Amino acid sequence: MNLFLDMKTIILLLCIGYLFTLILISAYGHNHSKGLAIRTFFLAKCSQTIAWFCMVFRGEIPDFLSISFANSILFIGTSLEIIAFLYLQNNFRLKTKMVMIYLVLTLLSIIGFQLIVLFYNKENVRISYYSFVIAVILIPVYRMVLGKASTFLMRIIGSLYLLVIAAFLVRGVTALLSSTDSISLYTPGAYQLISLLSIYLVTNLGNLGFVLLMKEKADHELIRLASYDDLTGTLNRRTFTEKAKKYLTDYSKKGQPLSYLLFDIDNFKTINDTYGHHVGDQVLQDLTTRIKQHLDKEDLFVRYGGDEFGILIPGKDETDSNEIAEQIIQTLDGAISRSLPVTYTISLGVLTVIPDQHMQLETLYTTCDKALYNAKNNGRNGVFRGQIDVHNAVS
Ligand code: GH3
Ligand code: MG
Repeated sequence: MNLFLDMKTIILLLCIGYLFTLILISAYGHNHSKGLAIRTFFLAKCSQTIAWFCMVFRGEIPDFLSISFANSILFIGTSLEIIAFLYLQNNFRLKTKMVMIYLVLTLLSIIGFQLIVLFYNKENVRISYYSFVIAVILIPVYRMVLGKASTFLMRIIGSLYLLVIAAFLVRGVTALLSSTDSISLYTPGAYQLISLLSIYLVTNLGNLGFVLLMKEKADHELIRLASYDDLTGTLNRRTFTEKAKKYLTDYSKKGQPLSYLLFDIDNFKTINDTYGHHVGDQVLQDLTTRIKQHLDKEDLFVRYGGDEFGILIPGKDETDSNEIAEQIIQTLDGAISRSLPVTYTISLGVLTVIPDQHMQLETLYTTCDKALYNAKNNGRNGVFRGQIDVHNAVS
């Protein structure tokens, strides 16, 4: 298909698009803290904007600027863009080794390009070299596709980047095999169309993909902050209630048991008063870390507030839950870690039910609270089993 495109106009439009991206990122950064990923992405867009502006004036400014300089900073821009994506994918952590690899790769790419310009300055060779180098720089996007923790959005963005790699490889090979004139970006034809589509795809993919991934990360972080207790990393009451109600419904349908544990640290006020609030906080963290070791992924661990916690254990009957309760008491009894100057114990109420469709979470809580009260009255540091009624108790 021959579209008779005026390539200079198109590149100019591309430049304007890049310029607006820069303005919008700057505006965003005005009121928000700019993380490393955003800064890197911003630098990438700066490099790409300058590069495309230099290219648009090809023929009117020295070739050194429109060819050597422009291509060199396009290498830098693409590397920075991929580093920014990798920051996002790795939850804002990136190994120094990876950054160093990119630094060396970009430097070598620039040196290689300058050598071609100096000693073998043919357009098809330059295009071919540029295309192969960009394909290599983009290779780590395969991690977005294959990464275990990758989201669907990441996999789609990664796959589109793989498509871009393929397009650059095809472009590189065809450029090598073609005569200089037929593969110029400025000569109408199939080559121009493919190049234009690749540039368009990579530009939109970079901009929109990055923004959406940032949004996805931010959403994820907000949900995490809204679901968990800051100090202990256990579920907060709201999230626990939501998930626990779902378990009650599911297990009433299955007709299988659920166990519920409610516990509270013994004499926690005295620990706070004697050793200070900071040590009290450490006790709360120590307790949750130790207990988590005895729980499965599907168990729900909640901090109701202060020193009161609950655990809903799906699928476990009375014998299983007795065992878990004993394990928890034992793992804490006399527990002292290097950072803690104090030992502590807990009292625990436990309950097992096969829920029916009318079973309320509040009923589990109040029944178990009574059992916990009895455990406290029995001298603390122990377990007391509660019963709802004969029909629902499982023995
Ligand atoms: P009992 O054996 O009967 O449970 O006695 P207790 O002293 O543990 O009494 P209670 O459970 O009522 O004490 C809860 C204390 O927990 C009171 C409050 O000062 C303290 N507390 C609540 N939230 C926090 C917190 O986030 N950090 C710390 N360090 N203390 C907290
Ligand atoms: Mg207490």
